[in-house]
Amino acid sequence: MLKLSRPNISEDAISAVADVLRSGQLVHGNESDLFEQELAKYLGCNEVILVSSGTAALHVALQALDIGAGDAVIIPDFTFPATANAVALTGARPIIVDVLAENYTIDPDLVEKVAAEWQGPERLRAIMPVHEFGFVVDMEKINRTATKYGLCVVEDAACALGAHHNGGKAGTFGDVGCFSFHPRKTLTTGEGGAVATNSTALAARMRQLRNHGMAPGATGMRFVEPATNYRLTNFQAALGRRQLPELDSWIALRHQLARAYVERLSPLIDKDDVSVPELSSGHSCQTFMIVLNQKFDRASVIAEMRHGSVETNLGAQSLVTLGLWGQPDYRLEVGQVLYAQGLALPMFERMTVSDVETVVSRLSFVLNGE
Ligand SMILES: *Cc1c(COP(=O)(O)O)cnc(C)c1O
Repeated sequence: MLKLSRPNISEDAISAVADVLRSGQLVHGNESDLFEQELAKYLGCNEVILVSSGTAALHVALQALDIGAGDAVIIPDFTFPATANAVALTGARPIIVDVLAENYTIDPDLVEKVAAEWQGPERLRAIMPVHEFGFVVDMEKINRTATKYGLCVVEDAACALGAHHNGGKAGTFGDVGCFSFHPRKTLTTGEGGAVATNSTALAARMRQLRNHGMAPGATGMRFVEPATNYRLTNFQAALGRRQLPELDSWIALRHQLARAYVERLSPLIDKDDVSVPELSSGHSCQTFMIVLNQKFDRASVIAEMRHGSVETNLGAQSLVTLGLWGQPDYRLEVGQVLYAQGLALPMFERMTVSDVETVVSRLSFVLNGE
């Protein structure tokens, strides 16, 4: 079976984890300190704080900005539900906005419209764009809207570690950027995540929020606010650290595979059987999702691909379709089509262009019997 994705763990990374296990320093330690510093350097930001998942990253970011009951946060319709869950967990209301068909990310013009027309009853506090699958959102537009209406910006860069635009890395354009190290992401620590920020005050608050609400005081650590435990372990940090130097070359390999997909899919694209995303040079290619023409039933396509030993899956969810976070204020359309017809194809560094050809020829057969 050609899998949708496979983690890329070297023997060197495995022995680094074993070394930490032998050291007995299991929670916070040298590996976590170094991984935070190395990630901050890689991203080009002042501070990185490791946390236990991408969802924890989103939650501490929103909490650190004092977002809670009576507040509202703009998020895209097409994403992983954790984006909305993190907002709901704080007590705030997610305001769901449609995405762009060409790159699956939040439509910045709709964000501006929602902010301009906002009438409450909640206080609109933040925009949470998602760099879906590694495509960098137009952050200039998002930040312009945020400045104009006094909103915070929390980037859900869970699938976008290494994605960049105009020399800046995804996750460093807003107040806080949130990353996930789940095995479906390019760099993995099993479970894990991180927040990135340039603000010393937000960094201190997020360190406190991940660690039982404790802050350093004159006589040692003190409990200063109610919070939970969102720490990453030292051995997970050791695993992540050994992958970071490889990340950019892995993304380059993913670009080659994505370009091979687009090229080999061209007969299907020309017939309008499938459409493919825009692949900007800064895309991190965490997932490669195509969209099937509405005449095809995706569930049977997935089943028939599996019969040909190729694992495929839906790409992400439409929050409005799931219906768990209240009614949308605006009419949405694109996210629902992407949710219904999106098909994620295998994408990981250790697959080859010949694997891409296998996937595409199976797909042509499944769609057209040829
Ligand atoms: C993976 C993902 C998350 C959640 O990350 P976890 O580490 O699984 O909690 C959140 N948002 C997006 C867009 C994701 O892709």
